[in-house]
Amino acid sequence: MTPAAYAVLNLEAVQHNLQVVRRYAPDAKIMAVIKANGYGHGLLRIAEALQSADAFAVARVDEGVRLRKAGIKNRIAVLEGFTCVEELDALLNFKLDPVVHSFIQVEIFESRAEQDACAIWLKLDTGMNRLGFKPNEFNAVYQRLNRCSIIKRPISLMTHLANADDKQDATTLKQIRLFNETVAALGNERSIANSAGILAWQEALTDWVRPGVMLYGISPFADSTGEQLGLKPVMGLHSRLIAVKPIATGDKVGYSGTWTCIKPTTLGVVAIGYGDGYPRYAKAGTPVLVNGQRVPLIGRVSMDMITVDLETQPDAKPGDPVTLWGDGLAVEEIAICADTIPYTLVCGITQRVQIVEQRV
Ligand SMILES: *Cc1c(COP(=O)(O)O)cnc(C)c1O
Repeated sequence: MTPAAYAVLNLEAVQHNLQVVRRYAPDAKIMAVIKANGYGHGLLRIAEALQSADAFAVARVDEGVRLRKAGIKNRIAVLEGFTCVEELDALLNFKLDPVVHSFIQVEIFESRAEQDACAIWLKLDTGMNRLGFKPNEFNAVYQRLNRCSIIKRPISLMTHLANADDKQDATTLKQIRLFNETVAALGNERSIANSAGILAWQEALTDWVRPGVMLYGISPFADSTGEQLGLKPVMGLHSRLIAVKPIATGDKVGYSGTWTCIKPTTLGVVAIGYGDGYPRYAKAGTPVLVNGQRVPLIGRVSMDMITVDLETQPDAKPGDPVTLWGDGLAVEEIAICADTIPYTLVCGITQRVQIVEQRV
């Protein structure tokens, strides 16, 4: 018996999407971003599917340690770096490359005597105002780090784009120019582009690119789907009908009775809810595929169930297959219906959802 709610992960699609990155950035090395449990797809599963990437990036030290303990040999960058000596020791033990973005990190490095033990990514803040040194701090910080015996030289350099998904916004070119001007005197390796940078900004294609969401077949842009960009969606979320019944004019459906029936129809109950990661704020009208056909969500999403209007499928019956997103229904479209971004949907799949790997 198949579980009620399951996610099918197409690992061939992950490899296809990596090739798409290579087509967009043929001269760049690829740091595949697999933080947050591989954007909800499984950290080790995705790392194995992406063995041919030049490096991986994770957010936290413990994510990198998990990859090493599983035998992953690729270079691994840790995007949030470290905040204490214990974390640096773990980075050294497991040969993980921290992003260096704060003076506390510089001081910790200066207190160490090891030789060439740690490759780093020095991060410049060119306008995101999250992590990184300001351009006016860069030269002094670079000199200090360059004198630390523990750090492997040459030091790699990076910045992060705040608004690359908006192709009209001048911020991106300003960030790229500020970064290039600040590091102009150095020939060190550089990295700028996330998925949106790779897809929309030629100027961001430097030595290393850092694709995340596009590897999972998802578009970083609000006005397109991954499929329209030549990507293949990796995750499909599925369940089935567990009840089908008539409802009458005036009946209210679900918690708080937010949806009222205005003409007699057939109601379907699907075994999926926010307890599985289906978005609680998906609006009435959000499309759901029942037997491959679109029907609208009605009423509130509850923890374990949603309700749909089966007006167009009066013969549907309990057990019939339901797709929440995947083939024929882009996760990007569901994100719009739930006032969110597709990143949160795939990241939010919960433990209860059974994973089915697919390799064709
Ligand atoms: C998450 C992240 C990426 C990948 O971003 P996508 O939009 O998923 O491609 C790249 N670089 C940094 C620093 C990140 O935090």
